[in-house]
Amino acid sequence: MNKDVLIIGGGPSGLSTALHLIKTAPHLTPRILILEREHYPRPKLCGGGLVFDAENILEDLGLDVREVPHADSDEIHFDFAGRGLKVRMPKRHALRVIRRDEFDHWLAKKAVSSGIEIREGVVVKSVQPREECVIVETNQGEFRAQVVVGADGSNGITRRCIFPREPVYTARALEVLTPNASAQSKEFEQERGRVAFFDFFPVPNNIAGYVWDFPTQVKGVPMRCWGIYDTNLLADQQRPALKEPLAAEMKRHGFDLGDYEIKSHPIRWYNPRNNVSVPRVLLVGDAIGADAIFGEGISMALGYGVIASQEITESFQRGEFSFRRYRRRLGRSGLGQTLFARWVITQVIYSLKWRWFQILLWRVFKPIVLLAAWVFVLNWSKRDLRR
Ligand SMILES: Cc1cc2nc3c(=O)[nH]c(=O)nc-3n(C[C@H](O)[C@H](O)[C@H](O)COP(=O)(O)OP(=O)(O)OC[C@H]3O[C@@H](n4cnc5c(N)ncnc54)[C@H](O)[C@@H]3O)c2cc1C
Repeated sequence: MNKDVLIIGGGPSGLSTALHLIKTAPHLTPRILILEREHYPRPKLCGGGLVFDAENILEDLGLDVREVPHADSDEIHFDFAGRGLKVRMPKRHALRVIRRDEFDHWLAKKAVSSGIEIREGVVVKSVQPREECVIVETNQGEFRAQVVVGADGSNGITRRCIFPREPVYTARALEVLTPNASAQSKEFEQERGRVAFFDFFPVPNNIAGYVWDFPTQVKGVPMRCWGIYDTNLLADQQRPALKEPLAAEMKRHGFDLGDYEIKSHPIRWYNPRNNVSVPRVLLVGDAIGADAIFGEGISMALGYGVIASQEITESFQRGEFSFRRYRRRLGRSGLGQTLFARWVITQVIYSLKWRWFQILLWRVFKPIVLLAAWVFVLNWSKRDLRR
């Protein structure tokens, strides 16, 4: 089958690319096809924390994420060993937490109702760029396209086909869902309530990341989503098993990690050295990289869609598909600038791993941290949506 734009992966980056292409190049709509390996609503391991920028991009598409079941946090704590920085947003929630099976299904339905074709259950096996087209082999035969978008996530096949020898920068993450209160700690629900926690106490033990605990909901039932993220930046040092700090933090609040199912998935993080395209094929979302500090990638995935759609639209106008300018376009965008800044911050905050530094950072240098977050971490999407 021949298409103009073939998008591999129907997660937020692939769906956002398609939804933005409808805006920037409406004539392409019937010539776009998304190939998705799973069937919606498909499971996706993710904390589901949506920051302001994600909602901003969705609003700009005319979409209201409140249609998706969610739990809101009014406050976020960035702690070291239980104490640190508290963040509230004026007149709005600080973090909105969705479940990815529901969110991605909702976004896919929006794409379909806007005229985008999605084929579910199609597993891409290889991506071969040629001078005249790209050949995509799948479990359901061969597809040919003018342009392919690799939106297939941290383990995606597209990147492996076009950059087989590139170094891989991935974080490890574990996730666990628990009830709102444990048998031992009935007060937990009142204590933690609508607060999302990030605690960086594992850093001095060479786990370059944090333990999180968010309020969430599953099928309307309030729950907590716990997890641990490790950039692997200190992987050459001796580290405890990843689940140990998570188990310790959960125990502190009356939960036994052994009682719950632990799931894990890598998160590929953005490194400025990463390649992003070859002629006729460009990457978006985790296929390039999520934020390195937190592994935050939903807003980024939506943001990659904004930039990729501009690049593809101009390529069709010129009739030239080298994607030579994509890297520069990304680098100059609000998304590229925040990803770069976060990569730099990651090298600093996780390399200076000493306990005293982490205490200074999260408990003493609060105004500096807040200012850095405001300038380099938040509000990047507005710049890209104005273009
Ligand atoms: C444990 C964990 C917790 C996280 N928590 C958060 C959080 O709280 N907030 C946040 O912002 N980010 C979080 N993230 C990161 C976030 O999940 C990702 O950054 C985001 O999903 C990236 O979107 P994407 O569209 O690029 O890739 P994905 O969401 O991975 O989507 C890729 C899609 O491609 C499909 N696919 C893959 N291979 C093929 C193939 N060969 N053929 C066809 N289809 C294929 C997959 O089925 C999938 O639907 C978390 C990640 C993990 C692992």
